This record gives sequence, C-alpha cells and structure tokens, in this order.
Amino acid sequence: MNDQNLMDKIVALCKRRGFIYPGSEIYGGLAGTWDYGPVGALLKKNLKDLWWKGLVQMREDIVGVDAAIMMNPKAWEASGHLEAFNDPLVECKICHQRFREDKPEDITEHEKSHGKGKVSWTEPKKFNLLVEAKLGVIEDDKQTIYLRGEITNGVQVNFKNVLDSTRVRIPFGIAQMGKAFRNEITPGNFTFRSREFEQMEVQFYIKPDESEGKKWFEYWKSNRMDFYLSLGINKDKLRFKDHEPEKRAHYAKAATDIEYEFPWGFDEVMGIHHRGDWDLKRHQEFSGQNLAYRDPETGQEYLPWDIETSAGVDRSILAILVDAYTEDSGRVFLKLDPRLAPYQVAVFPLLANKPTLVEQAKKIYLDLMEFYQVSWDERGNIGKRYAAQDEVGTPFCVTVDFQSLEDETVTVRMRDNANQDRIKVAELSNYLSKLINETGSSTT
Ligand code: ATP
Repeated sequence: MNDQNLMDKIVALCKRRGFIYPGSEIYGGLAGTWDYGPVGALLKKNLKDLWWKGLVQMREDIVGVDAAIMMNPKAWEASGHLEAFNDPLVECKICHQRFREDKPEDITEHEKSHGKGKVSWTEPKKFNLLVEAKLGVIEDDKQTIYLRGEITNGVQVNFKNVLDSTRVRIPFGIAQMGKAFRNEITPGNFTFRSREFEQMEVQFYIKPDESEGKKWFEYWKSNRMDFYLSLGINKDKLRFKDHEPEKRAHYAKAATDIEYEFPWGFDEVMGIHHRGDWDLKRHQEFSGQNLAYRDPETGQEYLPWDIETSAGVDRSILAILVDAYTEDSGRVFLKLDPRLAPYQVAVFPLLANKPTLVEQAKKIYLDLMEFYQVSWDERGNIGKRYAAQDEVGTPFCVTVDFQSLEDETVTVRMRDNANQDRIKVAELSNYLSKLINETGSSTT
C-alpha cells in the first residue's frame, strides 16, 4: 500500500465509522476545522483521561487548571505572540498562493504543479497566526481580542494564583488541556495542521539553574516519550528531533520535538521547550505584578524557569490511528490499546429475533456498562458486526448464543487474532478487566 493510499483509507474509515468528519460539512466545510463523531469523541476523551491520570492524578508535584480561552489582549502582547507569532511566507507570482518559507518541500511540490513553467516567488513576508475576535455588544465599542494561539498563557498568568491557593513548592508543574486556534496558512494532512485544535500541556517550574534546567529537560523528554510508548505506538516510528538554535521559538532556551512517522514522513506530535523565565518575566513586566516565587526555607525570591511539554491532542490521535490501522488476510482493524479504544467491549445476541437471546445479552450489556464503554449491535449477521467493531478498534466482542441459554457461558472474540474463548457470564467482568488493564498498566 502506498502512503497516499494509506492516508486515503484512514480518512475514509474515520468518516465512515464516525471518528472524524469535515467541519460544517453540509455547508461545504470550513478549511482547517474537523468535527469528532461518536467514536472519535470517545477516543479523544480516553487519550485525554490517560494523559491527565498519569500527570495530575498519579503525581504529587503537578496540579491542573482550566483557564479561559479569551484573555486580556495584553497577555498576548506580553508573551510576544502579537509581535513574533508569525511565519515568514513567500507567494507564488503565478497563482498568488502562499507557503511557509521554512517548508521547502511544500514549495518544491507547488512548483511541480505549474509543470514546466518557471515559478518565481516574492520575498518572505510575515503573517500573524493569532485569530482575532470582537468582544462586546455595542458595535462601535467592540474590543479586539485573540482566541488563544497556544494554551500556555492561561497557565502563566495564573502562576501566582496557584502559588497562593495551593501548597505547591518548586519544582512543580501546572497541567492544562484545551483548544487553541491559529490562522494556519496551509492547513492540511487531515487533522495534522488545523486552524482549531487541542493541546495538552504541563508547565514545570524549576529553580533558575543551568544544571536543574538540563536535568528536568532530559527528564521530561524521556517521560513524554514513555507516554507515547505506553499507548502501544510502534517504537520505530517515534523519534526526537532537536530544534536548531536559529529555528527555536522566540521564548526557547532549548527545544526538542517528539515526531511520529506519518505516511508523509516524520512530523511533530509534541514539543518539549525550555522556556527559561521568559513568560513570567514578561507577564511581571507587562502586568506590574510581582510574580516571584519565595523559597520557604531560604527566603530567597526568584522567577523560576519553565520546562514545557506541549502535545497536540489531534496530532496524537492521528498518530494513534495511523499506527493502529492494520490490514490482515482481508480484515481491516484498528489495533488500539484497550484503554484508548472507543468501546472496550461489544455485546451481541446471536440472533436479533430470538427474545431469550436478546434478553440475556441486554442484561450483560447493562451490567458491563457500569465499568466500560460498551457497544450494542444486533444488526445483520455476526460477521458484519465483527467487521464493524474491528474498524472502530473494539478489542473484545461478547456473543450470547443458544449454548448461553443452557450453561450461562458466552463467547469472547479477540480483535487482534479473531480467536474465541468461552467464558462463564459470572466471570466475564473479571476476565475483561484483566485483559483491558494488563495491556497498559504503566500509565506514565
Ligand atoms: P508546527 O511547526 O508543526 O507548526 P509548532 O512547533 O508551531 O508546530 P507548538 O507551538 O510547539 O507547535 O505547539 C505544540 C503542539 O501543538 C504541536 O506539537 C502540535 O502537536 C500541536 N499543534 C500546533 N499547531 C497545530 C495545528 N495547526 N494543528 C494541530 N495541532 C497543532
């Protein structure tokens, strides 16, 4: 299968089964926006829950916040986004399409689209990526604000609030997830580059000290790589990519990306950035508030340094889907970690028109619902139901058949090898729990 073919198949499966639809599709869409359907929303929620559990629930040194998307515009001035959040663009003089100067592969690709004609380009120009909005009810009095271009600022402006309202002590982190918006020039590669997307971040505050900085930067690199590995993503398809000093963002002292090998090549799913005291210093300066941390033991006051880990939810989901897509002996299935799978279990009565089978299956379905996201299906034949569950990655399908009525057992069919086990109904919940949790018990 060539790479474009694979991507086309994944996009089609996402639409067909309800993972991801083009945004506002009935109106012809809106470029760079995507809507997650019923199974996509479940997959996304499972990823975010695992991320939050590993970083907030299971750690003593990280707390979570959920800040507003709309912020006082001064915050964007302070963080440097109004001035520096822009990509230099070049424009094709033939068709006036614009491309990022730092993406030579897109430029070469575009040149090919003009055949033998020689393409000349304008000098690079800067474009601001922040999405503007107007806030207020009186037409002439509306204030221009910006939809957040990254979620970091909501954490930085609350640094002092968190210090004052909790017992955190350096080193500690503040976690957040939520939507971000960027006027991307060329959205594309399905959800990879969207104009509305979601991020999951931790800002980890440390002593302003070079060796602490190095230590925590390395710590977070391997911690986050372990997270992707714990989701079952193929190790050979993940790598670190250090940013060259001249390509680093305006705030970064050091930066590394974790990249996944998508069908079009290795590309970024998350960034690890050593932000130094850039954000707190600027917010202190622009707000006039003292944002320093006071060491309770030494009494020393300082602005801490920040090691940021910033993951894209949508890009992580895309990497998970690409990695899970499997074709085997004519079968298509998503080999998803059971903790990520939209449904952990599906329950079927063998025949929809036999009330005794339906009744027993419904009881099992309702019992399991308490613990798992369970799918119910009684349409068509059993083969079609298996195929539908395979395509959304359901790891276990439970079928109630005629033998079930006699001996209170059911079949459990495994997604990855299509093998079946016969299990007592009374033992089903324990049996499934073991299989679901043993796959990825190490939530890092
Ligand atoms: P790129 O160089 O690909 O534009 P970036 O370096 O600007 O990305 P960051 O600002 O570091 O990205 O954002 C952190 C994460 O947010 C990225 O690793 C990515 O997963 C996600 N992200 C950024 N921009 C987009 C986008 N337009 N669509 C989807 N996810 C995005």
